[in-house]
Amino acid sequence: MKDQRTYADRREYLIQAVANRRKTLRLKAIELKGGKCQRCGYDCCMEALEFHHTANKNFGISAKGYTRSWNTVKKELDLCILLCANCHREIEHRTPINLRKATKHAII
Ligand SMILES: [Zn+2]
Repeated sequence: MKDQRTYADRREYLIQAVANRRKTLRLKAIELKGGKCQRCGYDCCMEALEFHHTANKNFGISAKGYTRSWNTVKKELDLCILLCANCHREIEHRTPINLRKATKHAII
């Protein structure tokens, strides 16, 4: 018997299945990297943890990483450290807070 289901019939199921897969891969990736910020030890909120590349990146883990196979993601994770959002911003930008305040006041 031919499957009579259409994409429209399964749309919500498929969207949820993809979201679940991406969330599972993200959790697996976080666990692989130790489950906490490797700089300050933060581990309270999974959504506040990010991957920082310490070597040339082939792709962003969070951007399109979870559309790839686990083995591909795992190889890319070898190039990354796990950081909390605050530590990640500090490492990426290194703008001292007093300098930002000085710039803001200069503009006003
Ligand atoms: Zn941190």
